[in-house]
Amino acid sequence: MKAPRQIILTLLLAFSAAAAWSAETLTLTRDGKTDYVVVVPENAAPVQLSAANELAETLQEISGVPFPVKKESEIAAVSPEEKLLVIGPGAASKALLGPETDEDAVPYDGIILKQAGKSIVFSGHRQRGPLYAVYTFLEDELGCRWWTAAESTIPKRETVEADDFDVQYAPKLIYRESFYTGLMGNANAKIAAHLKTNGSSQMIPAELGGHHQYQYFVHSFYTVIKPEEFLDHPEWFSEIDGRRRIGGWWLSKENLSKIPAENIGEDGSQLCLTNEELFGVFLERVRKDLDANPEATIVSVSQNDCGGWCECEKCSKIAEEEGSQSGPMLRFVNRIAEELEKSHPNVLVDTLAYRYTRKPPKHAVARSNVIVRLCSIECSFIQNLDGEYGRSFETGERRPTDAPQNRPFRDDIEEWNRHAEHLFIWDYVTDFAQYLIPLPNYRILQDNVKFFVDHCTIGLFEQGDYQTTTGDFVQLRAWLLAKLLWNPDACQKALIEDFIAGYYAPDLVPIYLEYFDLLCDAAEKTGDEIGIYLPDTLSWLDLDTFNKCAGLLDRAEAVAGGLEKNDPARYENLLYKVRRERISLDMVLLQNYNTYAEEAQAEGKEFHAPPREEMAAFYSDFRARCKAAGLVCMKEGCSPEQFGEYMTEVIKEIVPEESAAEEANAQ
Ligand SMILES: [Zn+2]
Repeated sequence: MKAPRQIILTLLLAFSAAAAWSAETLTLTRDGKTDYVVVVPENAAPVQLSAANELAETLQEISGVPFPVKKESEIAAVSPEEKLLVIGPGAASKALLGPETDEDAVPYDGIILKQAGKSIVFSGHRQRGPLYAVYTFLEDELGCRWWTAAESTIPKRETVEADDFDVQYAPKLIYRESFYTGLMGNANAKIAAHLKTNGSSQMIPAELGGHHQYQYFVHSFYTVIKPEEFLDHPEWFSEIDGRRRIGGWWLSKENLSKIPAENIGEDGSQLCLTNEELFGVFLERVRKDLDANPEATIVSVSQNDCGGWCECEKCSKIAEEEGSQSGPMLRFVNRIAEELEKSHPNVLVDTLAYRYTRKPPKHAVARSNVIVRLCSIECSFIQNLDGEYGRSFETGERRPTDAPQNRPFRDDIEEWNRHAEHLFIWDYVTDFAQYLIPLPNYRILQDNVKFFVDHCTIGLFEQGDYQTTTGDFVQLRAWLLAKLLWNPDACQKALIEDFIAGYYAPDLVPIYLEYFDLLCDAAEKTGDEIGIYLPDTLSWLDLDTFNKCAGLLDRAEAVAGGLEKNDPARYENLLYKVRRERISLDMVLLQNYNTYAEEAQAEGKEFHAPPREEMAAFYSDFRARCKAAGLVCMKEGCSPEQFGEYMTEVIKEIVPEESAAEEANAQ
């Protein structure tokens, strides 16, 4: 006869469901001991084992006390009277949660974190729920923080207590990608998981819940159909001004020489979306590639990153009927999706509503297995997408405006909500002409995440500084955006304060918040739109504001230096980090030096900068800080050599005779 453990579990389940236990403070460790056991299901999934191990290891790191991890069958009894830390879903979590909580009904990425008498249940959606429940507990109940791949705060205490809590939460965004270097690739998989991101670039292994995997990613037309196929099948490609054309830059010299000049599209080209032969070939190749990549759950069928749509008679007729180039695009994507549904029912088809396809169609509606990914590339980022300025960190007030800059985008997303059940968004959160300089969008980051979620968005890609290791507070931004993607209703200001206090030092919170406010105030005062392609800050960052910002960052350095000196263990590397973050305003100083200096002289104003004769040394220090931070790129497609050449030009404008520029670059 089998041991009656299963029966006991079942009986206890009935009992525990009926019993009402009073919430009490749980003491997880005291006097170097614990009565608690971490419990995993009998056949625990890898993600559940990871959750159990991380919980046990982190509790030990906090308290010094080892926590045993046991299987359900190794536990004498499961009941609210026992001291168990139960990883679900499993028999033990089911018993403790009772029939009113159905773990199988938890939405995607949802968590259950529940105190059950003296026990705690960590459960949720099977893919990542238990791990996310553990992370939530360690952060919200015990004060742990993971800032970057290398930096975290794990508080130390002998007595670990946890108060009454009952969290059932599922994020509205099922796809969360904070697109920063520090969260990308295998080396950053753990921090990407800790921050509950799960996007394409976040290489989180299966044992930490995995991540969304794409076939292709975006701009896939010429990934599927090769540009050189133009030679044999020009009719598959766009007709532009009466001729089939191909963008020359996609072709090898040899192939380019075979194509008459009048068939080259200067703005690039796309595909002829009404060509039946092209449709068949495209579908067949997508199917083949999906078969070879069974991990992919989303396939991108999307336009190239250029203009050059097809103007043939059939494509134009559809565009006219639909009032937008999104018409022929969505009809093509719907047809592909309809066919893929038969062969690959679990794969979603992602397309772009980007630039010439941003305006929604009049009639076409996206099929349920189609994701429309709307892109905010034309927007202004000093106002939010509702057309308001952001809240001041100091006062909590918004500056009024009667000129909402993003109204056309708002109109488009509202209309897209009538043409697609749900949306993915490609949003932009850095300056793509110059990563290093400040982009004064600090106040509206949360506004926009909320705006998207309020407009049926279930996937959000925040494109930040994905090629640089530092810039305009990139560690803060990567962390903050990840947090907001998980919970768009979290308090942005509190999150920023939390990061500054924990990653830098509490004393720096008021300094950096004032710095962000100063930059945003200066940009708002111009009333101008601020997009993502400004090469410098001259249009909005006035001399007076620059001076105040430079003074604040001087103070930040002085504070950091003092703290690190007095408590080097607690504030290890603080001065380095503060001086690294100053690279952004120092880039402003270098770019604008002559303009500011002339203005200061003409108007008898202060200019908070080293005198010209000290600028060579300043530049040398700047380059050394860039190097120490691993910073070798300032925008997309920029090589380290091009960055060096650009900087040489910048310093020569300030100290023309100075040959130290090359020396500093070569360091
Ligand atoms: Zn066409």
